[in-house]
Amino acid sequence: MSLIVMKFGGSSVGTTERMQRVARRIADYHEAGHQVAVVVSAMGDTTDDLIDQSKQLNPNPPAREMDMLLTTGEQISVALLSMAIHQIGHKAMSLTGWQAGFRTDAVHGKARITDIAPERIFKAFEQGYTVIVAGFQGMTDDGEITTLGRGGSDTTAVALAAAINADVCEIYTDVDGVYSTDPRVVKCARKLNEISYDEMLELANLGAAVLHPRAVEYAKHNNVRLVVRSSFTQNEGTSVKEEAVMEQGVAVRGIAYDKDVARISILGVEDVPGVLATVFGALAAGEVNVDIIVQSGVLNGKADFSFTVSLSDKDKAISVVEGIRGEVSFDEVTSEEDLVKVSIVGAGMVSNPGVAAKMFEVISGLGISIKLVSTSEIRVSCVIAADRIHDVVRALHTAYGLDVEEQAFIGGPKDRR
Ligand code: ASP
Ligand code: MG
Repeated sequence: MSLIVMKFGGSSVGTTERMQRVARRIADYHEAGHQVAVVVSAMGDTTDDLIDQSKQLNPNPPAREMDMLLTTGEQISVALLSMAIHQIGHKAMSLTGWQAGFRTDAVHGKARITDIAPERIFKAFEQGYTVIVAGFQGMTDDGEITTLGRGGSDTTAVALAAAINADVCEIYTDVDGVYSTDPRVVKCARKLNEISYDEMLELANLGAAVLHPRAVEYAKHNNVRLVVRSSFTQNEGTSVKEEAVMEQGVAVRGIAYDKDVARISILGVEDVPGVLATVFGALAAGEVNVDIIVQSGVLNGKADFSFTVSLSDKDKAISVVEGIRGEVSFDEVTSEEDLVKVSIVGAGMVSNPGVAAKMFEVISGLGISIKLVSTSEIRVSCVIAADRIHDVVRALHTAYGLDVEEQAFIGGPKDRR
């Protein structure tokens, strides 16, 4: 007997029929003798719909009330799923996040889990119940309801798996697992059998939406065995763990790209000590998240800086920089949109110096110029013009030996095509 946490995303429980399919899947595990705790997201687009509705009444709703509203989405899912399980002759008990013992800090809209007291879950297990826990929610010590941020149900599942010491946490979604790149763009993308926490974390942070970055972080920290798999097939999925096997001679595990980038350049900055600290201190104080930072060489005592921010922060970043003209002397601020950050990720890179060079070769071979570069031990990212990103991803995928024959089935019947 294993203790298993199964998490189902919104599309997996998006309709009555899908809900029934999920109930069957849970019952199968139960019949096989496993103890099961389930975490579910709100059905389909429920969360988005609730947000739209709230904005019609108040474009800036109080964060507390927003949490009150959004947590209802998951409550609908758990109750309905529990009913579907009862209908096929099994005992299930739905629990809100707070009933399941999830305590969080008081940051509405992006709360962090501070503690989980799973006594009630264990009691339900003893009584022969499968528990169905509402994802993405918890309660503060003062009894206020909170949510964990968009996509937070993954984190609920991983945290629950850690708290009850589950053997595995299975994340069911509308794709077969984690792919080497977006299978909608590259037909011969490969499904990965394994990936390390660190690689997954890089990919998740780069926008591979299959897993929420915070959930991966939590899994790494607590050594939770994670499996990403499809709720529409019986295929094995991708195992996310500490050390993942790398195929002989392959240095890159995956390729990701993110269109949410804007470049800001500050030109002709007077090169005196402390300039960088002033500029980036002001940006941090303005809550602008800066990603890549590059400083060009100094000419006649003046330097140019470029950095990237997400599109939604572009205007704010410019006004923050304009606002410190009194403290820092510079000529002008420029900005650029329609960019993309394309990244290669792989643990094998550390010991393979040619990997980055190959990336630059492939991109320039397509006649595309690289505007900014950043690297970590297991990642190289290039910022380029967005228009030919699909060509670039395909070429990189081939160059790093990742292509496989076109796969027959990559996702749920309605979700991906
Ligand atoms: N329902 C929430 C959302 O759509 C949480 C989740 O799905 O993980 O963001
Ligand atoms: Mg969702």
